Amino acid sequence: MKSTSADSRLVTPLQSPRLVHLPEPVLAHACRWAQQHSPRESCALLTGRRSNNSLSVHRLIPCHNQVDLAHQHRAFAIDPMEVLSAEDQALEEGEQLIGLMHSHSLAPARPSAADITSARSWPQTLWLILGPDGDGRIEARAWWADGESLHELSFSRPVPTHLLWSANS
Ligand SMILES: [Zn+2]
Repeated sequence: MKSTSADSRLVTPLQSPRLVHLPEPVLAHACRWAQQHSPRESCALLTGRRSNNSLSVHRLIPCHNQVDLAHQHRAFAIDPMEVLSAEDQALEEGEQLIGLMHSHSLAPARPSAADITSARSWPQTLWLILGPDGDGRIEARAWWADGESLHELSFSRPVPTHLLWSANS
């Protein structure tokens, strides 16, 4: 006899993660990439692993912002070919593509209306956003796209502030 309870356990979906492990070298890479492109938006993909309630970022793969140069101060888009290539790279390293990073120059590090629309095409994805806080310093915040909206996640350790810079400098 088959055990239906065992079968149903197998199809239990993963819960939404609550915590992000973001190693300092990955954040440093994100900051360098964002600062290099400021005041335009930069973008990148993130590989790593997902467990039931947490995400571990392993690597940041820089991407080109596909949006016209004139609009890059407020928008980003990633070439699907770069997504496929990042997926391959992640698989080779025994990881998965778990998310993306992008930076805001003027808007805070929370999803814009355009980001919320765009996140529907990236369900079950970590969104790492860099952007200025109320004092004009760049901060990093993490969000989870569940297919409908984006919910803020906590970092497993405080973000090292020495990596972040003043948006006014
Ligand atoms: Zn954005």
